[in-house]
Amino acid sequence: MFNALIVDKDDEGKTHAAIKQIADSDLPEEEVTVAVEYSTVNYKDGLCLGSGGGLVRNYPHVPGIDFAGTVESSSDARYKPGDKVVLTGWRVGEAHWGGYAQKARVKADWLVPLPDGLTTRQAMAVGTAGFTAMLCVMALEDHGLADKHGPVLVTGAAGGVGSVATAILAHLGYEVAAVTGRPETADYLRSLGASQIVPREDLTEVTRKPLESEVWAGCVDAVGGAMLGRVLKQMKYGCSVAAVGLAGGAAIEGALITPFILRSVNLLGIDSVMRPYADRVRAWERIAKDLPMEKLEAMVQPATLSDLPGLGRDILKGQVKGRVVVDVN
Ligand code: NDP
Repeated sequence: MFNALIVDKDDEGKTHAAIKQIADSDLPEEEVTVAVEYSTVNYKDGLCLGSGGGLVRNYPHVPGIDFAGTVESSSDARYKPGDKVVLTGWRVGEAHWGGYAQKARVKADWLVPLPDGLTTRQAMAVGTAGFTAMLCVMALEDHGLADKHGPVLVTGAAGGVGSVATAILAHLGYEVAAVTGRPETADYLRSLGASQIVPREDLTEVTRKPLESEVWAGCVDAVGGAMLGRVLKQMKYGCSVAAVGLAGGAAIEGALITPFILRSVNLLGIDSVMRPYADRVRAWERIAKDLPMEKLEAMVQPATLSDLPGLGRDILKGQVKGRVVVDVN
């Protein structure tokens, strides 16, 4: 028997989360059983720990959209007992049971070998949020970021995606402007490498202007909403925004076609869930190389399974700073 955080639904449709003891035979029938060491808390986990946000298919459910651990057994030749692995995406923790348990059973295709130079704890300090931040940086680079001069904007900077994006971009030598609605995080963001702090309210007013002054050479946008509408109008000629999140709204308020047709601005969509294997391996290798581990450690807030319901509520309110690392044991 082992511990799992189980979310169940009562007769009135209300969800409840509690730590319960389950057996190997309760796990889904899949190819690889992993002894989970660490998981984390992402925005989607907040939804799946609560009402489900339309993501969870069946109850009882084990949330946790990512985890890292050691293979215990495998019917797939690519993995053998003792291999260190990391999992993000594939709707694990939403449609499938996830990482908030001491064991998980998943498809071999969903796993990535832990890259050299990273521990399982560091992999979950990165987590889906940090992995996706690296996908954003790679997309911006692929669209010419290195050739442009000027600050790179990171929105929702004190959150998970934003913190990791800030640290990676600063380490790569870019000038990072960090947007936050929490002025008290300014020292933290500077410690990650931000050279400019932009108050959230500077970018949330919806304007009717077709374009604004050209400021940003690139942007990692975790916020969407009115902020994305404003940022697009402030991008330098030919530069790109990697749109990764919707913490501030799912509609791009006030957006116009003008930045695209008058300034050749690119809006790059970033999904981490269905990313092909080769991209995943490349992103994890880049993380091991380009994310300074002392900065990653500065983002970490440690937690256990029993802290998760409260942390789930906090992340939905935008109140989690940096990255939570959940020691499931
Ligand atoms: P966090 O909650 O850690 O970070 C989001 C940050 O956005 C907050 O910390 C806050 O930063 C800012 N924010 C929150 N609410 C608002 C608001 N109303 N207006 C403006 N800013 C706001 O979440 P994550 O970093 O884990 O995820 C960020 C987004 O990216 C989420 O929408 C998530 O779903 C999405 N995501 C998408 C992925 C993909 O595959 N496309 C993968 C991972 C995440 P501050 O306090 O600094 O202002």
